[in-house]
Amino acid sequence: QAKAAGRNRYRHFDARMKQDQETELETLTDIREGLKRNDFVAYYQPRVDLATNRIVAVEALARWNHPKRGLIMPDAFIGLCEKTGLINDLGLLILRDALKQQKSWRSQGIEIFVSVNVSQRQLSSFDFAEQVQDALQEFGCDSSGLELEMTETLLVEGDKTVHQNLKALRKLGVKIAIDDFGTGYSNFSRLNDMAADCVKIDRSLIRDLPRSEPIVKMMIAMCKLMKVSIVAEGIENAELEAKVRDMGCDEIQGFYCAKPMTATNMTEHLQADLGVEPLRRSTK
Ligand code: C2E
Ligand code: MG
Ligand code: MG
Ligand code: MG
Repeated sequence: QAKAAGRNRYRHFDARMKQDQETELETLTDIREGLKRNDFVAYYQPRVDLATNRIVAVEALARWNHPKRGLIMPDAFIGLCEKTGLINDLGLLILRDALKQQKSWRSQGIEIFVSVNVSQRQLSSFDFAEQVQDALQEFGCDSSGLELEMTETLLVEGDKTVHQNLKALRKLGVKIAIDDFGTGYSNFSRLNDMAADCVKIDRSLIRDLPRSEPIVKMMIAMCKLMKVSIVAEGIENAELEAKVRDMGCDEIQGFYCAKPMTATNMTEHLQADLGVEPLRRSTK
């Protein structure tokens, strides 16, 4: 009897796995079509300099504007894109979108850094650095105005190609940020080798303040010694802002400043923040 129950459980499990696989396959087909249809866009979230209280950078975050399902968040598609390699196409699309936007902002008198997330798959592609260089050239963007965000796990575990790409990117003058810092190995000696320009302390550590205060303080001290700038992620209220300011973070990012928004909304947001006059639309 117990055996029969066990078999049943397995059968049930098999059916669920099969369904998951089918759903995954459907999603995958859907993503491919979405890429063709240009459904994917970058939303932008500001990063605020605590010394000046001004926006200094924006992070590009992928969104899927699905014709039937509406706006879909990255958690629902990034993993699958990474698993299948589609992240190479999606990542390039977001990078180009962000650089094109930066060019447009510059033409409107808005000078701003853009920051783009890069996944393991992309950095393991032999021609990734070249793709970045081509995109910078295409939109006439300065390499020092671009920051690429990658996780420490990727950097620590990275193969030869990853490190060749990193070297080429650094030579190009692109900035490197370590994303979700504090969730991986946090291997400080490797951090030194990687010569990152910026570290983004993960939201989970910020959320755990003041319990996580000792570790966050230690991270900040280390980063300061290595002259790496520090961004606190996931700042949701004034208390957290004050807290990380006291601890010596350089910049903050989070819902307290602004949620990720469309390029159009970000343009207005930047004009207001930086005191830049909006471009007058030509009346034709
Ligand atoms: P991330 O790079 O760490 O980006 C920050 C995430 O935290 C964003 O979620 C943002 O909306 C969210 N966030 C920002 N401030 C707050 C806050 O105050 N409170 C809370 N609760 N959340 C906040 P999002 O846009 O859903 O992106 C999730 C992740 O998906 C990103 O985490 C990144 O790892 C990945 N991702 C997004 N776009 C891309 C992309 O173009 N390429 C790659 N490879 N990954 C991407
Ligand atoms: Mg990021
Ligand atoms: Mg992050
Ligand atoms: Mg992340």
